Amino acid sequence: MEFVGSHILSVDQFDRGSIQRVFDVADEMIPYAHRDRVTRVLEGAILSNMFFEPSTRTRISFGCAFNMLGGEVRETTEVKASALAKGESLADTARVLSGYSDIIVMRHPEAGSVAEFAAASRVPVLNAGDGPNEHPTQALLDLYTIRKELESRGRGMDYLRIALVGDLKYGRAVHSLCKLLGLFERIHYKLVAPPELGLPEQTIDELRRAGHEVSIHHTLTAGIDHVDIVYVTRTQEERFPSQAEADRYRGLFRLNQAIYTQHCEPNTVIMHPLPRDSRAQAQELDDDLNENPNLAIFRQTDNGVLVRMALFALVLDITDQVHSHARPVTWYTARRFARRH
Ligand code: ASP
Repeated sequence: MEFVGSHILSVDQFDRGSIQRVFDVADEMIPYAHRDRVTRVLEGAILSNMFFEPSTRTRISFGCAFNMLGGEVRETTEVKASALAKGESLADTARVLSGYSDIIVMRHPEAGSVAEFAAASRVPVLNAGDGPNEHPTQALLDLYTIRKELESRGRGMDYLRIALVGDLKYGRAVHSLCKLLGLFERIHYKLVAPPELGLPEQTIDELRRAGHEVSIHHTLTAGIDHVDIVYVTRTQEERFPSQAEADRYRGLFRLNQAIYTQHCEPNTVIMHPLPRDSRAQAQELDDDLNENPNLAIFRQTDNGVLVRMALFALVLDITDQVHSHARPVTWYTARRFARRH
């Protein structure tokens, strides 16, 4: 895969070699993300961070990742604050923004919209989620996390057993992750969803044709035994025709410490793309798991910055200059530094 100057729109662009390249560069970003060093390699570069759907961690981690490489970030966070609200086409907005920016990150509620936008852009565009379709950078950071968690248990990615729980129909993070995992050998996907919210048939067929095992479960306890990872997701309420329909699925699958202890193998890793729905009626990932060392959700979010820094560095072709533009951090307090490590 060619990174330099490319749009990152789908996980279909990646093979195992290019994933490894992202992970190697992500590892090199650790001193900057941990504020041991600063680099100004992207001084003068401008990121347009365009988020036309709610976001906390994806938007802020993309922005922080660009800042940590020394670049500036301009943000638009609502359609109504942009000229799209005046009827401007995605293509016109892309032509305009690519005159102002060196790279664009975009999230949009319509499947395929980011690709449409990218087709008219003169600078690289990174897909931060296009409706229910894909969320490629989330899948990359999830995979990076899975690799690290398994490494610490002395295992590799091949023959992974993963339970994917929740709304697998509309969950774009799951769609991208399933495809990316499919690049490895003989994955066992245990899909835990209500019948109406299952993973799209086409994806299931593709995974089976590629030699992976896919089993379908409608109860949590049947799906989470004998796996390495339990990946929980929330009901994607915003994609349902009505709130009443979304409400039917709230709280259907709830993982808590008691269920984990009874049904999961010891050391099963618990993941979630976040946000987890912590309202009383939902609680898909109970707070009583917070002290469980296998809960990797905040390691996922930390890893997101590393992976996004790596993608910027690869696409903007500065991987070999990051360290030469670096210097030690002078403002960091010893106390905060000690807490971080
Ligand atoms: N943050 C993820 C996404 O944007 C997952 C979610 O919203 O449930 O797709």
